[in-house]
Amino acid sequence: MKAFELYDATTVDQAVELLQQHGPTSKVLAGGSDLVTGVMKDWVHGPGMPYPNVLIDITTIPGMHGITVGDSGLKIGAATTLTDIVESEEIRATWPVLSDSAFSVASPLIRNFATLGGNLNQRPRCWFLRGENFPCYKKGGDFCFAVTGDNTYNAVIGGELCYIVHPSDTATALLALNAKTTIAGPAGQREVAFDDYFIGPREDVLRENILQANELMVDVTVPTPAANTKMAWTKLKDRQVYDFALTSVAVVATVDGGVWQEGRIVLGGVAPVPWRATVVEEALAGKDIRSAAKTAAALIRGQARPLSNNAYKVDIAIGLTERMLLSLVA
Ligand SMILES: Cc1cc2nc3c(=O)[nH]c(=O)nc-3n(C[C@H](O)[C@H](O)[C@H](O)COP(=O)(O)OP(=O)(O)OC[C@H]3O[C@@H](n4cnc5c(N)ncnc54)[C@H](O)[C@@H]3O)c2cc1C
Repeated sequence: MKAFELYDATTVDQAVELLQQHGPTSKVLAGGSDLVTGVMKDWVHGPGMPYPNVLIDITTIPGMHGITVGDSGLKIGAATTLTDIVESEEIRATWPVLSDSAFSVASPLIRNFATLGGNLNQRPRCWFLRGENFPCYKKGGDFCFAVTGDNTYNAVIGGELCYIVHPSDTATALLALNAKTTIAGPAGQREVAFDDYFIGPREDVLRENILQANELMVDVTVPTPAANTKMAWTKLKDRQVYDFALTSVAVVATVDGGVWQEGRIVLGGVAPVPWRATVVEEALAGKDIRSAAKTAAALIRGQARPLSNNAYKVDIAIGLTERMLLSLVA
């Protein structure tokens, strides 16, 4: 690992100024559980992706931490730890899908210092991206090694060019909750819905979201759910101890007398972005969930283009989606 400069920012404006001053080789540092212990020690850099020489710690900014609940919803500072989210009784009572997703991340020790902003902006875990000998698209190369190599854990949906899967569990839940984030940059602050935050390889193969090099995430806001809202979350892993999702499913929907009114279904571990299964949502509109769940969930197959070793994920995605839908009316 190379030496780097470290700045402790004390305000959001100062952090933005430092990012501007040092350019694309500077990075926002939160808990460091991915940036320092992963990215900087793995080989997640190349011609298209400079090695971070300057780290700007944002956990030293007082206003970046904390959870507040008001009439319109929930606000979480980007530097709030995942443990704080898991332990919040208010989040557990009203937005259980977010508690469950945060609880499913890594281990208690990591959740104690890993932050929400870091979890949402962490880099993918593809072993070719993280491996020394693979100059893939994300590192400025011109090949995705998952296409011909071991692609057991890679994308089965939307994986054009690059077949990473988005690694964040909280992203899946927040997209299902129709959440937004506040981004700070040189031109001030702006709010962006998570619907528009994550981007796939066709839009820009070098990154996974719209955040520019001189911007940072300040907070996340989640609306108060409408009456009759039901939520469900599940995550299948290869092993019982901490691991990333083979596939996860978050469902947030209004349900009346067992009938699907309006809702969002988001899958993790299957695509380069947290993937919204709109095809399933549309098939459920106005239908009795118990009778429609199986056929609706099966529509995922039509969206999937698995690689040589990962067709099993499509079956898992369909099975877990059906199971979560039925759990809404159990
Ligand atoms: C053993 C292990 C198991 C794991 N298992 C899971 C899992 O099951 N599910 C899962 O979702 N994750 C998992 N992770 C990933 C882990 O959750 C992330 O490493 C962690 O959430 C990152 O948070 P951090 O605060 O440490 O971020 P950092 O490592 O500090 O930052 C990560 C990235 O986000 C950027 N960043 C951080 N904060 C901001 C901000 N406010 N604005 C803009 N950019 C920002 C950084 O520049 C960096 O690029 C695992 C990690 C490990 C080491």
